[in-house]
Formats: sequence, structure tokens, C-alpha cells
Amino acid sequence: MIQPAFDLVIAALEKVRETNERVPRASRSALVQLQSAYSTAASMPRALESRETHTSPTGQQAQQTSSTKAKSLASVRERVCGCTKCAHLVSSRTQTVFGVGNPEAEIMFIGEAPGADEDQQGEPFVGRAGQLLTKIIKAMGFAREDVYIANILKCRPDVPAGSFGNRAPTPAEMQMCRPYLVEQINIIQPKVLVALGAVAVEGLLAARGTMRELRGRWHSYNGTPLMITYHPAYLLRNQSPSEKRKVWEDMLQVLERLDKPISEKQRNYFL
Ligand code: URA
Repeated sequence: MIQPAFDLVIAALEKVRETNERVPRASRSALVQLQSAYSTAASMPRALESRETHTSPTGQQAQQTSSTKAKSLASVRERVCGCTKCAHLVSSRTQTVFGVGNPEAEIMFIGEAPGADEDQQGEPFVGRAGQLLTKIIKAMGFAREDVYIANILKCRPDVPAGSFGNRAPTPAEMQMCRPYLVEQINIIQPKVLVALGAVAVEGLLAARGTMRELRGRWHSYNGTPLMITYHPAYLLRNQSPSEKRKVWEDMLQVLERLDKPISEKQRNYFL
């Protein structure tokens, strides 16, 4: 029963990172180490793991799939950590930002690239836009740990020293980094993908378009339904209730696609 114990520890530490207002006490590298210890433990022969496992065959199967996915993700993560394909980003990054969440997630959110907070903490969507994304996920009835969150780029796009803000990834950077995201999607095999903003769409589909044309309807990425919606940073810049409502309506479509029950409160919700 090593695997559920690791799951609990990892989930508890993820929660500490998320809720702690000051310095997170669970560092990303501690989580990575736990995750790789988990993968090693999960690959141990069952007899060594426990003599008395009362898990049902279905449960065992689910555990195996989950451990296989976690293991595969851990191996991609390791390659991403050591990636040196974009020399300018290697020298400017604090660390790579791989992705976070449930390897078994039904929904995978895809953003563009880490910002300063994410670069510091090694986790996607932890800054202001990330807090709004977490609020959206919770309003949908999920915890952040239930879904998977990743970016097109795994490094923060470099900005001149002393300047504020972020810059958008270049097409060359996106092309270079995209294979990692493709691997993440192929491993997780979510039921639904959600692309956040036009840059995520460009990185994923190599297609350009205005958000007005693209959002709010179903697209497909290699056969997986893809919902396109506004990036939470856009909602922070544009506080208009109608724009927020659009994003929420897109999320209602996602819930419908997943056959999740939608309460009256959720139907009438405004972000
Ligand atoms: N914006 C993104 O697109 N990704 C992050 O991880 C943070 C902000």
C-alpha cells in the first residue's frame, strides 16, 4: 500500500504549497524527489510492496495505470529539467516549470508560459492569473489536484534585466518546447483539453486566430475535444462581467462534455 501513502503525502504537500501565503515549506525539488521515490516504489514487485492487499482488481488496475502514467510523466519531467535546447532561456530561468496535477486527470488546462512567480516556485499558474484559474477550477467542482495544468513553454521567456512583466513566447520557442507538451498529453490522455488564450492555441494547433472567433466552441486536438477560452490574465486586465461570464460559459460546456452534474448555482454563476 505504498502508492496511496505517497499519493496522500504528495497531495498534502501540494496543498501546503498552494495555501501557504508566505514561503512554501514544500519545495518543488522535494516534491519531485517524492514523486520519483513513488515511481520507484510503484515499480517494485507486488510481493515486496505488501503481502495483504485488499484492493479490488479494478482498483489494482486503476493503481497500475496511475503509477504507469506518473512514472512516464516523471521521466519526461527529468528530461525537461535538463533541457538546454534554448540557450537564452536556460541562462535566464530559475528552473523549468513542468506541469502539476493528477496524471489521471479528465481535464488538462494549457497555458502559454511560466511568469515570474512560476519561475520562482517551479509550478504553473501560481501567480495572480493562476489564482483566478484555481478559482475557476473550484467553481467547476474540482480541486486543483484533480485536473492537470501545463504550459506550452516550460521556461519563462526571458525579459531584459530590471524590466517588469512577461513577454509572449516566440514561434521558434514554442516549436522547440511543444514536443514535451505533446508527450504530457499523450501520457495523461485527458477527456478534454482547455487552451487558455491565443498563444496556447497557436502553440498547440499551430493555428492563429482571434479569440473572438476561436473561443466558446469545440475544436479538436488529435481527436481530443479542445475548448478554447480566454486566458485568466485577460480577465484580470479586463474586469468586465460579460467577459468573465463568457469564460464561465465555456467551462459549463466542458462540464457538460464530461457529463458532470451542473447545479443551478453553477448555471447562474459569474466569476
Ligand atoms: N500564465 C501562463 O500562461 N502560464 C502560467 O503558468 C502562468 C501564467
